[in-house]
Amino acid sequence: MKILFVAAEALPFAKVGGLADVASSLPAALQQLGHEVRLVLPHYGVIDDATCGVEPLIRFELNNVEVIASQAESHGVPVCLVRGGSFFSPDENSVYLDGDAANNRRYLFYCRAVLAMLPYLGWDPDVIHLHDWHTGVLPYLLAESSLASIPTLLTLHNLAYQGSGMNSALDEIGLPRPRHPLLKKLDSAGNALAIGVAYTTLLNTVSPRYAQEILQPENAYGLHPLLRARADSLVGILNGLDTDLWDPCNEHALIAPYDVNSLERKVLNKRALQEKVGLPIRDDVPLLTTVTRLVDQKGISILLAALFRLLIEHPIQFILLGTGSPEYEDAFGELADSFPDRVVPLLKFDAMLSQQIYAGADVFVMPSKYEPCGLGQMIAMRYGTVPIVRSVGGLADTVDETVGFAFESYEPAVLYDMLVYATRIYTHDPARWRGLQLAGMQKDFSWAHSAERYVELYQRAVTAT
Ligand code: ADP
Repeated sequence: MKILFVAAEALPFAKVGGLADVASSLPAALQQLGHEVRLVLPHYGVIDDATCGVEPLIRFELNNVEVIASQAESHGVPVCLVRGGSFFSPDENSVYLDGDAANNRRYLFYCRAVLAMLPYLGWDPDVIHLHDWHTGVLPYLLAESSLASIPTLLTLHNLAYQGSGMNSALDEIGLPRPRHPLLKKLDSAGNALAIGVAYTTLLNTVSPRYAQEILQPENAYGLHPLLRARADSLVGILNGLDTDLWDPCNEHALIAPYDVNSLERKVLNKRALQEKVGLPIRDDVPLLTTVTRLVDQKGISILLAALFRLLIEHPIQFILLGTGSPEYEDAFGELADSFPDRVVPLLKFDAMLSQQIYAGADVFVMPSKYEPCGLGQMIAMRYGTVPIVRSVGGLADTVDETVGFAFESYEPAVLYDMLVYATRIYTHDPARWRGLQLAGMQKDFSWAHSAERYVELYQRAVTAT
């Protein structure tokens, strides 16, 4: 099949969260199955053209705005990067801009440019695979165009981000507002994501559990009536990982590469990590970590409260790698002030360092409020780092008692109890700990199975149109 991927982030070009991992590793997996995939991305100013091998492709006019399309490659998949007018200019210095209105305008331009570019590419996709709200308006524009027979699959990576106010962006450039019957009774009818859910041929979430959760009002951010109306077209497919990238054998990133047969070498990475971040080098002290965006979703408030108590009562070390809300960044700074030599907040985005942390830590904590899939816990398991997660969404689908620890209630005390329980096992029952590590490392987190499920969905979308 010919599959056109349209996303807002992909490695190695631009990454803010897990979407970037999926939008680079899934196309590669599909290509390995014998399908033809092309990936389109916005040509953000933050992309390092020289490092990413970006070269000119075509230029064309779209309503008096010049669209500049460039090309590159990722894992053997052809990539097309789009900018034009004032959108995605080289001067911008972040992937996402502040404020809905500015982002809505640029992603509306992006969707229009992608459709306008298709005839120039001389490549007719059998299906267009869209990702998140940034691409939500595309199925509507497609339905109104001469390309209306191409089916779409919209993947919902995170329902909290919806591109609110997209109708105003349409008004600004004189395009009619969508009139889909399913949007009529919705408060959030003008959201890019709502528009996408109404118009797309099929839709999916990035874990089976999240597909069920979002049908409930408390998890749907206002979209449950629409999602319920489309429940027959909604499935859940668990994300895979790029297992070449996230590999404890990777000599490139780690001081002491290891695998299931040499797990005893993991501690060498722990010592190197402790030394690197300035923690006392102690094999016996459990080293906990989290690598995350610092946003409410990730359960940062219960993590901070539980850690504070844990640090008072138990000899643990903790490393945070994350950026996000200034309040959370400050709170981790204060925790480090209260527990010097035991807490290290690394407030930056650093992919290489994240690999060293996944390898060097003993425990990975992910107490999310909600979690569409979550890659952190899967990556941690690949590295023999035992996950402690809240049992929601993809965390519930990937972590059970054979590989880690899961708790239900979103409360600091419950997380605290789980942290104490896990660190006790770490200290007093090394054989059981090792069993958890090995079971996690041996789980199959590759795309092999999930990529085939996507192909089934593409085929279903083609048949449906
Ligand atoms: P989300 O997509 O909601 O941010 P996921 O768990 O699905 O959460 O994916 C997060 C991805 O981003 C993982 O690959 C994680 O390692 C990475 N990541 C998050 N924060 C950082 C950071 N500060 N530095 C490096 N990688 C990070």
